[in-house]
Amino acid sequence: MNVLVVEDERSLADAICHILESEGYDAQAAYDGNEGLALARRGAYAAIVLDLMLPGVDGLTLVRTLRASGDDVPVLMLTARTQTSDKVSGLDAGADDYMTKPFEAPELLARLRALTRRAYDEAPARLSFGDLTLDLASHDLSCDGRQIHLSQKEFDVMRQLMSGTGRVVSKQDLLESVWGGESNATENSVEAYVSFLRKKIAHLGSRVSITTLRMLGYRLEELRRA
Ligand code: CA
Repeated sequence: MNVLVVEDERSLADAICHILESEGYDAQAAYDGNEGLALARRGAYAAIVLDLMLPGVDGLTLVRTLRASGDDVPVLMLTARTQTSDKVSGLDAGADDYMTKPFEAPELLARLRALTRRAYDEAPARLSFGDLTLDLASHDLSCDGRQIHLSQKEFDVMRQLMSGTGRVVSKQDLLESVWGGESNATENSVEAYVSFLRKKIAHLGSRVSITTLRMLGYRLEELRRA
């Protein structure tokens, strides 16, 4: 189970990773909000431990951005502050739980167990849009009993398009969330994968299409029957 730890105090971030790894989790640290958001948007984590005060994107904005894009990864927010108003803004922004620093390792682990248990119980195994269904475990895209397998990057792009119904996703967002730190990726890479996906969607005979909105990005649309 992968856990992302976003915390700018490196010694604390590394200590949390160490605690998690000693319990059998795979932990990855991000030391600022921008890096944290870019990693989180890849959608590969079972939970995120997120500090509130961060350089770059702060914790509240980070969790709000994830929720706005339809990402419901469990978020445990950390902060040195103890005021009730901060807890409320954290939870309002979309965090699932809250812990104030300093904390004891057993409490962190117990809260993470509770969050991931809850998420697994409720986790949607698939995303749907129109007549299309994307299986999040097998990476198969299906339509009316026909199905086709998506490569990892095709899956990542499709997942972004399908989470958040009819939402416009910009090329830049896709580049960051799917390609992340890969420096050789460009908007041409995004266009190429959207083109692969369009072919696969057409092959399935779906009425859903990936529409290009000039200057804005892409959106899924379902053609109505005439
Ligand atoms: Ca901090």
